[in-house]
Amino acid sequence: MHERVYNFSPGPAVLPLKVLEQAQGELLSLPGLGMSAMEISHRSKWFDGVLAETTANLRKLLGIGEEFTVLYMQGGSRLQFSTIPMNFLRGAGKPAEYIVTGSWSKTATAEARREGEVRILFDNKDENYRRLPRPDELKSSADAAYLYYCSNETIQGVQFAAEPRADVPLVCDASSDFLCRPLDMSRYGVLFACAQKNLGPAGVTVVIVRNDLLERVPEGLHSMLDYRTYAKENSLANTPPVFAVYVVMLVTRWLLDDIGGLAKMYALNRQKSGMLYGLLDKYPDLYQGHAQRDCRSLMNVTFRLPSEEATAQFVKEAAAWRLCELKGHRSVGGIRASIYNAMPIEGVEALRDFMIDFAKRSKT
Ligand SMILES: *Cc1c(COP(=O)(O)O)cnc(C)c1O
Repeated sequence: MHERVYNFSPGPAVLPLKVLEQAQGELLSLPGLGMSAMEISHRSKWFDGVLAETTANLRKLLGIGEEFTVLYMQGGSRLQFSTIPMNFLRGAGKPAEYIVTGSWSKTATAEARREGEVRILFDNKDENYRRLPRPDELKSSADAAYLYYCSNETIQGVQFAAEPRADVPLVCDASSDFLCRPLDMSRYGVLFACAQKNLGPAGVTVVIVRNDLLERVPEGLHSMLDYRTYAKENSLANTPPVFAVYVVMLVTRWLLDDIGGLAKMYALNRQKSGMLYGLLDKYPDLYQGHAQRDCRSLMNVTFRLPSEEATAQFVKEAAAWRLCELKGHRSVGGIRASIYNAMPIEGVEALRDFMIDFAKRSKT
């Protein structure tokens, strides 16, 4: 086998080795079926089982029952930026409220505006999205169609510690922190996450919708943009990305059986992120954290070095330690270490050791 590197990419991102090995082992022939997950019909009994187990695993991990429907869609999270307002803002006769805390929630508002009135409750672009709103800064009203937010801004590396308070259905883009910690799903109306950050390969987006909200969907939407089509047809109205859903099933199985559930995953994620944030606190002149301390993300650790040259040197030397994909997003600059669920603790330890070594050799 070619040696794997530690991949700190923000997405598509690292997957659990055990999941890759199982997919590899079954690549030519699923047990007893003689064909691969990339060749088998989405109408097969095998795939019915895959959908059923994935949904059952998600329900178990999140502690949700039949009050929610789990949908498997395509078009990534960005299509959800459109389908959310199409299904829940169009014809609602009231505005939708958006909390803008970084690049992804900002992009979502632009799509929502095509469907109706959008009220921005908070947008701290002028602070370069380094922090999240305090509860007293959010004046949400009870007459909105829904309240939208992004639980973890992947690019800026800021993550809500708790859901914003809402008297209307809460809609959450959880693309980059889904299943990183336990959630109180009774707070949510809709939660969506593309797979390629924390859940599986690109191609499938999981959408969890509270059933009563499906009754609010207006008539006349294109059928493949209408959540009710996916709910009615068990996400089989057209051909779903079979292989991607199969890998999501394996990842949810890994979370349950190998990790032991979301409380355990959360503890591991705190341990991993704590190692890196500890260094930001120890060497604040060299590793200048982007996120304000109380908004730091468990998943995406963002920081800058004192100069472009130092950043380039950091990235180059890290690659020699087989630590890859550390360059920050062009809008924030610096370094971003994405340490999703599947990043093994050894990978974070290796990055920590490199950062200590780099700091000792730096003059700052
Ligand atoms: C990656 C990401 C998106 C966009 O996902 P696509 O599947 O590429 O459309 C949206 N929101 C967040 C928070 C993300 O991290």
